[in-house]
Amino acid sequence: MSGHRRHRRRPSSSGGEKAGPVLCNSCGKNLQGLKLYYRVKTQITCEPNELSFTAEELEGDHAAEMERLARECEGRDPKELEEEVFVLLDYHLCEDCKVKFVKDTRSR
Ligand SMILES: [Zn+2]
Repeated sequence: MSGHRRHRRRPSSSGGEKAGPVLCNSCGKNLQGLKLYYRVKTQITCEPNELSFTAEELEGDHAAEMERLARECEGRDPKELEEEVFVLLDYHLCEDCKVKFVKDTRSR
């Protein structure tokens, strides 16, 4: 877990590149010598379907359910919780891996 990096909700600047070698996040190839590589930015956001409560549900066990959820969140890392609802993927791919990535994504 040494290389794990948490992604922030808002990157402070898009212009500042990280120091150090740029590696393909898929095959690990060093991309710095290449003419061309790709950057993938993907946002994964949580889209809860729980917003459409029926009147019965609202009158019924809803309060208890909310209490249960609140209790579940207790003692947990708030950052961890945030990552559960919002994940920003930001990685680099070499040309080969980009082709594979697009193919895989489209075929699903
Ligand atoms: Zn690659």
